[in-house]
Amino acid sequence: MEHALPHGIVEGLFLTVTTLKDPGHAPNGHHTLELFTFVPYEPFEDWAGHAAARPAGYHDLKERLGDAMIAAAERMIPGLGKNLTFRAVGTPLTNDFYCETHRGASYGTAKIPALLGPFSFPIRSSVPGLYSVGASTLSHGVAGAATSGLFAARDILGLRRIEDLLAPSDGSLQVVLASDLAPASGARRPAHAAPPEDDADDALAS
Ligand SMILES: Cc1cc2nc3c(=O)[nH]c(=O)nc-3n(C[C@H](O)[C@H](O)[C@H](O)COP(=O)(O)OP(=O)(O)OC[C@H]3O[C@@H](n4cnc5c(N)ncnc54)[C@H](O)[C@@H]3O)c2cc1C
Repeated sequence: MEHALPHGIVEGLFLTVTTLKDPGHAPNGHHTLELFTFVPYEPFEDWAGHAAARPAGYHDLKERLGDAMIAAAERMIPGLGKNLTFRAVGTPLTNDFYCETHRGASYGTAKIPALLGPFSFPIRSSVPGLYSVGASTLSHGVAGAATSGLFAARDILGLRRIEDLLAPSDGSLQVVLASDLAPASGARRPAHAAPPEDDADDALAS
């Protein structure tokens, strides 16, 4: 990726309206929108050490980027800008500050072919009992990170299927007795559970 900020115009955006999933995110009659675009870390790097009081230049840049993103979104949602009641612009430094990310990355390791699938960090490490999960393993985002946790939990518990870890779809609670969990070849396995199938191991060791 070119190490430069968008020049005047933002070419691509990802837009999500979080209040469509959870209306409680905003007061009645309002929605929350998140707009994402790709920016490199380097243009922000000089300000990395000044979280408490970043200088005006940083805030000016944020506002310019915010204006450009809203202008881009208005191609799909005319009038968006004049209907905003509040806006906040985040940068890679914001992600670092709130999420302890590496150089502002939203999705863990760079999603380039050399770091994907079998080349990403494996869930089951070479140290017995030590697992890695999250956006830098199986896949990124909420779903990817959560699924990597399910793979690890399935391995630790010696279960065959991910579904065995999920709550029943009727919302009832499933209680598993601790005494049903017995150590078995390094993993803890419910007495009633079959060992994992070989193909299920692929994602763990990718
Ligand atoms: C602004 C933003 C919006 C996003 N929106 C979406 C979205 O709409 N949908 C989607 O699917 N994904 C979204 N993502 C991506 C998604 O949030 C991540 O891919 C996902 O949360 C990664 O989960 P994780 O468990 O790997 O890491 P994280 O959720 O980042 O958890 C890592 C945790 O480790 C802690 N930590 C880091 N270093 C240390 C340390 N040295 N010691 C102790 N603790 C440490 C951090 O504080 C953090 O709590 C978004 C990301 C960002 C930044």
